Amino acid sequence: MDADVLVAGAGPTGLLLANELQLAGARVLVLERMPQRTGQSKALNLQPRTAEMLQLRGWLDAVLGRAMATLPAGHFAGLPLDYTVFDTPFPYQVGIPQARVEEFLEDRLTGHGVPVLRGHELLDLAQDDQGVTATVAGPDGRRTLRARYLVGADGGHSTVRKRLGAAFPGRDGRVSAVVADAVLEGEAGTEWRLPELEPDENGVCFLLPLGDGLYRLVLGGPAQQGAERTAPVTEEEIRAGLRLHHGDTVRLRELRWASRFTDASRQVERYRHGRVLLAGDAAHIHNPSGGQGLNLGMQDAFNLGWKLAADLAGWASPGLLDTYHDERHPVGAMVLENTRAQGVLGVPDPDVRVLRGVFAELLATPEANRRIAGMISGLDIRYPIAGEPEHPLLGGRLPRIELRSGRGLLLWSAGRADLAGAVAPWADRVDCAVGAATRDGADLSVLVRPDGYVCWVAEGAAGQPKDALHRWFGEPARA
Ligand SMILES: Cc1cc2nc3c(=O)[nH]c(=O)nc-3n(C[C@H](O)[C@H](O)[C@H](O)COP(=O)(O)OP(=O)(O)OC[C@H]3O[C@@H](n4cnc5c(N)ncnc54)[C@H](O)[C@@H]3O)c2cc1C
Repeated sequence: MDADVLVAGAGPTGLLLANELQLAGARVLVLERMPQRTGQSKALNLQPRTAEMLQLRGWLDAVLGRAMATLPAGHFAGLPLDYTVFDTPFPYQVGIPQARVEEFLEDRLTGHGVPVLRGHELLDLAQDDQGVTATVAGPDGRRTLRARYLVGADGGHSTVRKRLGAAFPGRDGRVSAVVADAVLEGEAGTEWRLPELEPDENGVCFLLPLGDGLYRLVLGGPAQQGAERTAPVTEEEIRAGLRLHHGDTVRLRELRWASRFTDASRQVERYRHGRVLLAGDAAHIHNPSGGQGLNLGMQDAFNLGWKLAADLAGWASPGLLDTYHDERHPVGAMVLENTRAQGVLGVPDPDVRVLRGVFAELLATPEANRRIAGMISGLDIRYPIAGEPEHPLLGGRLPRIELRSGRGLLLWSAGRADLAGAVAPWADRVDCAVGAATRDGADLSVLVRPDGYVCWVAEGAAGQPKDALHRWFGEPARA
């Protein structure tokens, strides 16, 4: 075997997954088609749950060091969402270009000796009972690589997904727009702010400062709608868009890069195909509304990494790896739904403008804000984790903890010293600490998975975690 896991694609999903696997002791090899990093960024934000995830591993400070801004709000089709209502150390969006997140993750991998093979394109794959064989084209020609698992994190046009023949239901794009980074002159503004996505008959033209006169520009209107998907974006198209929306107050000096995107919306039917798994844009595509795609992909990676590592280490309970699909497919489906709804709120039509007004009023109420902000921020994700007894914390995230080792954690309340003994057989995969959470004044003992989600809760002196330990952490090393 050349590796335990081959990861196809060094985008944010593949790079985070490789980091998680490395942390858990797996041998990983990342294949990336592009010979060099382009430095280009589609996404510009980390949502609160992604920030929490990076904090769990102790990686957030380094990422924040590369950030440009924080925004205390999220948005739904440009309508503001208040994140400060949540119990989180990060009730804000981190404004950071995707390329800087990737740079941090790739540097960390190479610092730990994990090969990121650039200029290596995965062409084909075949799997059997023992592993996966990938055909790869690299600078020295074609070769095959073999691993126990392969993860397709190779983006929306995923070769892995196509070679699997995996069903990818949904619909094609209906709306086309342009994203570009350009140096602008004039009154383009210097503040980070939420996107203004209320279209008039000319569509939308949103500008966000990236520093040194560089701006992110999102342009959508009749000209973009009528353009062929593969037509190059010209300087003239950008100039015409700026003139239409800003008169001569904002002028183009230099176009750094530009591309077209659509609101195509599709999700792969199954995230797992034997020894091949799909994650990130390879598993789901949707319009960028709300700033969710990168975050969704990174959270896929975080869910998958420890489960795959457990399988490789030989202690995964039966079915653990399948919970990746069971838990992440519904979350992806929800994002597809909310982005389609946001797309409707961006249609340039007087009646839609009325609908936006109704939505804006609704989102100003605490209940609606909490519901939608919880979804967009990733903070309200509840995985279907059954427990005895049932508890409202089960399946949700536990904020303000650290899991730097990538192992699970049993947090026990002062009166439950017996739990230290209960967890001892799993000491190689579950850490143990006093200092439990409280809820409504009651002391809680909590078992947390390596991805920070609660898989067992007990209040007071009741309850033993044995079943949950078996379910999520397998057979103990010494019975
Ligand atoms: C205009 C626009 C704006 C966006 N804004 C936001 C935002 O603000 N917030 C947000 O969260 N999301 C946003 N997104 C979405 C976000 O950029 C994507 O969801 C994210 O890039 C997905 O990451 P990924 O790693 O899954 O895939 P990708 O970033 O596409 O990475 C896949 C990698 O795989 C490589 N690859 C492809 N094929 C092969 C192969 N055969 N072999 C080897 N390597 C291969 C590619 O070169 C690439 O490096 C935006 C998207 C667009 C289009």
